[in-house]
Amino acid sequence: MTRSIAASAVPLVATALLLFAAPTAAQVTAIRAGRLIDPESGTSTENVVILVENGRFGSIGTDVAIPAGADVVDLSDLTILPGLVDAHNHLALTYKEDPESNIYYLTYVMESTPLRAIQAASNGIQMLAAGFTIVRDMGNNGNYADTALRLAIEQGWIPGPTIINSGIIIGGMGGQFWPTPEMAVDHNIVYPEYLDADTHDEIIKAVRQNALFGATVIKICVDCKPWGYSVDEIRLFISEAAKAGLRVEGHVQTVAGAGRAIEAGIWSIAHDSGLNDEMHKRMAAAGIFRAGTETPISLTGHTSPERYARTVASLRNAFDNGVPLTYSTDADYYVPGMTRGEVAIEFIETWKAAEIPNADILRALTTNGYLVSETEETRGPIRTGLAADLIAVSGDPLQNIDALREVIFVLKDGMIFKQNGVMTPGSFFNGGPVNGWNIR
Ligand SMILES: [Zn+2]
Repeated sequence: MTRSIAASAVPLVATALLLFAAPTAAQVTAIRAGRLIDPESGTSTENVVILVENGRFGSIGTDVAIPAGADVVDLSDLTILPGLVDAHNHLALTYKEDPESNIYYLTYVMESTPLRAIQAASNGIQMLAAGFTIVRDMGNNGNYADTALRLAIEQGWIPGPTIINSGIIIGGMGGQFWPTPEMAVDHNIVYPEYLDADTHDEIIKAVRQNALFGATVIKICVDCKPWGYSVDEIRLFISEAAKAGLRVEGHVQTVAGAGRAIEAGIWSIAHDSGLNDEMHKRMAAAGIFRAGTETPISLTGHTSPERYARTVASLRNAFDNGVPLTYSTDADYYVPGMTRGEVAIEFIETWKAAEIPNADILRALTTNGYLVSETEETRGPIRTGLAADLIAVSGDPLQNIDALREVIFVLKDGMIFKQNGVMTPGSFFNGGPVNGWNIR
C-alpha cells in the first residue's frame, strides 16, 4: 500500500459501497508452495503460486501474480504434491482383536451396516488426514455402506476422500465364504456381504443391481472357489459393466485365475498371490493395473516373514516388468495406536523393501491412482481446471519417501481440511446436501 491515507479516504468509502452493491465475486485462494512436485515427470519446481477458485485450480506457476483480495496460504517452507490414492481399501470394514479376534467373517455377523457406515465416515476422515484424497473402496461394506459414504461426501455432509466404490462383491454362491446352507440359501446372518452370481443371467443381474445401488466400479471374485469364473464369464462381467460405464476389478488368488482375468481383459487385479513373472509380463503387455495390496511386515500379525518375502519379490518383479502399479493396501483392520490413514501409509515400507525408486512409489500413489480411478481428467493432477485437491509435507518425498508419513496440509475441493498438522474440517460439515442431492 503506497497511497496516502488522505488521498484514499473518499475512494475507500466509494469502494466499500460498490462492494456491497455488486454481486459477490468468487473468493480466490493463493497458495505459495516452497516446492511443487509433478509426480508424472518425477520433477519439482520451487517457489510456485497456485490459485484456487470455486473449488478448482486456476493459474499455476512461478510468475503468477496474486490477485488483490485473495486469501494467501503461505506454504513456502513445505513441499506440495497432489493427493494420494489408495486403490484398494474397505472403509466400512474394520476387523479387530476385540470382539472378533481379527476374523473378519465375524465382523460381518456382529456389526450392522449402519454402524459400519459411520465407521466408514470416520475412516474416510482419517484417510484424508493422512493425505489420501481418493480411495477405491472395493466391497465388503454390508448393505451398500460404501455408496452411503460416497454420497455423504459428494453431497457435502462430511469431509472425506473422493470414493470410487464397488457395492457388493460379486462371486459364485458363497462368495469368499464357505457358508452354512442356512446362510447361503436363506440369506440370513451374513448376507449381503457377497452377491451370488453363477449363471449368465445372474451375472447380468448382479452387475445391474450394483450399478442401480450406486457402485462406480465392479468387483468380482475371479477364483474364490476352485471352479471360479471362466474367461467368457469374466468377459460378460466386463461387457455388462461397460454398459453402465463401469470397470471391473478382479479379486485373484491363483495363477490360473490371473491367467483367465488377463485373457478376458480385466481392468485391474487385486492381490499378488496369483501373480508370477509370466502374469506380470502379460499384465504389462495388456496394460492391466496391479493392486497388489502389499502388507508390510511392520503391521504385526497381518503378514508372515515368508509371505512378506514373496510380496516384496513379487512387487519388484512387477516393477521390473513394467506393470502399471497402483498403491493399494486392503488395510481393513484396526491397529491400536494408529489411525486408518497411518496404517495405509505404513505400506510404503513394502515398496522401500522392494527398492522401488521414490519417484515410482510416488507415481503409484498419485498418477497411476488417478488412472485406475479414471479421475485423471477431473481430479488428481494439480492442473488448471481440475478439482483443487493437494497436500503438503516437510522435506522432499522424491529424496525421502518417508516425508509422506507426516502430511501437514490438506486441501480438498478447494477447502482447507488440515493446516499446520491439525484437522480444521469445519467448512466441510453442513446441515444439508449443499452440493445437491443425488440418489446414486
Ligand atoms: Zn480387499
